[in-house]
Amino acid sequence: MDSPLGTPHPSLPPLEKHLLQAEVVLQAQRWPELEARSQKIFERVLEGFLRYRVGEEHFYSVTGYGHNDLGREVMDQVFAHALEAEAALVRPQLVSGTHALSVALNGCLKPGDSMVCLTGPPYDTLEEVLGLRGDSPASLKARGVAYHECSVFDAENRFTPELSPLMETLVREAQLVYLQRSRGYSQRPTLDLAQLHTLIEQTRQINPDALVLVDNCYGEFVEAHEPTHPSIGADLMAGSLIKNPGGGIVPTGGYIAGRAEVVSACADFLTAPGIGREGGYLFELTRTFLQGLFLAPGVVKEALKGMTLAAKLFSESGYDVCPRWDSPRSDIIQALHLQNPDTLKTFCRLLQSVSPVGSHLTPVGAVTPGYQDELMMAGGTFIDGSSIELSADAPLRPPYTVFFQGGLTYAHTRYALKTVLSGLRAEETLC
Ligand SMILES: *Cc1c(COP(=O)(O)O)cnc(C)c1O
Repeated sequence: MDSPLGTPHPSLPPLEKHLLQAEVVLQAQRWPELEARSQKIFERVLEGFLRYRVGEEHFYSVTGYGHNDLGREVMDQVFAHALEAEAALVRPQLVSGTHALSVALNGCLKPGDSMVCLTGPPYDTLEEVLGLRGDSPASLKARGVAYHECSVFDAENRFTPELSPLMETLVREAQLVYLQRSRGYSQRPTLDLAQLHTLIEQTRQINPDALVLVDNCYGEFVEAHEPTHPSIGADLMAGSLIKNPGGGIVPTGGYIAGRAEVVSACADFLTAPGIGREGGYLFELTRTFLQGLFLAPGVVKEALKGMTLAAKLFSESGYDVCPRWDSPRSDIIQALHLQNPDTLKTFCRLLQSVSPVGSHLTPVGAVTPGYQDELMMAGGTFIDGSSIELSADAPLRPPYTVFFQGGLTYAHTRYALKTVLSGLRAEETLC
């Protein structure tokens, strides 16, 4: 654990052997549970297709206003069923996860309201939405919504379930409580659904009227339930279709799901009051959205298997990783703490070199809209920016953590890990 890029671990077997040994352990200790959970989730997703009688007639979009688009209505119901929510708004007009979250926040909050985020700094792109950075006249702050932030993670990034007196006060005065499930690009671990439930229960006790909104990005179909399931209790959640729920084939879009009346308010904000969810052309994407959802549980499982293998191989190669290979997961992200900008660049370069698209390109750090630090992004994806496809993001700041995620097939992740680790091993012996 001490020397990430010093001398190679003395007892490390040759790479091929290391890989096979790791897989024997994972096959015995991790894959059966993952397969069983994925099967259950798949069955729930399929059940929605059967219940709402999805037919070929639903694959055609109504042009213009998009009024009376049966496919759009059925698609929303099928997604709601899969996401264990009363209602869902699934639209290409939600241009990203950030946009879906922005619409959800704006649909729920009005001037004079206050919100509190209990999970520490929100995902980078939310900063401008909230008005913490930049000076957009359309930010929540500019619209007169007060934002407060505290964290249920302590200085060592451990989850502390009891809310402090300050947090209780903020929750009591808030109209909306915001919880981010995934770690994003932070060092804190991902909040699992049991922890989410604990926080939601406490919120309800302090302030039964507050709406609870969960940023569910990267979390869909990882655990047996979704945050809006009654046993977890969120009112609303939002996410991106170029992450988990799009199954790797949906080319754009986002979703908002939860209590029907709240989803309707969000639809009014997305389109216009009076139009709400009744309008909006689907650009002939309904079939792809539904097919993506159908594939999603299997694709998420492949991604989880790949990331579990990454955790095992990298930790055994001397790197700190989070989560560990034998820990439960609540999102598809694997953090690998590479400690050193050169190691990070090598990782990204080699990952890119075995990507199906743009393998000849060299990733470099760049300023990215919505993000403050320079960001390295690797992974040539079929859909630009899709992070259910194998990809790595790394803000260029200590401890040079690579946030590794996705992988449409385990085979690809396995091959990529072999390439990256053999490259890192070669560099180690060179220095
Ligand atoms: C990806 C992500 C977002 C933003 O989604 P985009 O589609 O990239 O705009 C928000 N929150 C979390 C935790 C994410 O992982």
